[in-house]
Amino acid sequence: MNDKPVRRHDGAFHWEGVDVLAYKQEGTAPFRDVTRQVLFDDPAMGAQLRYFEVAPGGWTTLERHEHVHNVMVIRGRGRCLVGESAHEIGPNDLVSVPPMTWHQFRAAEGEPLGFLCLVNRERDRPQLPGEAEAREISRPLGG
Ligand code: MN
Repeated sequence: MNDKPVRRHDGAFHWEGVDVLAYKQEGTAPFRDVTRQVLFDDPAMGAQLRYFEVAPGGWTTLERHEHVHNVMVIRGRGRCLVGESAHEIGPNDLVSVPPMTWHQFRAAEGEPLGFLCLVNRERDRPQLPGEAEAREISRPLGG
């Protein structure tokens, strides 16, 4: 737990005292080139604010769950799938992922995609689609 009132940003999306973590700690969910940093983790608020960064051409796991995501893009460009629609996203765009809604974030080919994600500290486990189902669900994203 951090006890400093100010933790400095280094100009390159790393913050003082914040570890850069592997995106998934467990399981074999398919994803590519994603890192995770927990910026705030406050028991009193029951929430976490994380920073995810997807390297150019990478993607997060296609998944759904009961907990919601409130996302703000702060770096680069990409696309997101939320339910049945895909959207171009860039800096300062806000993305809301409702409960039990399939979602995935993909970075553009030539740019990373970095975003803040606000979530509950207590979260249910993500559900993953089967391979054929995943192809169908992610069709709006293309590629
Ligand atoms: Mn999710």
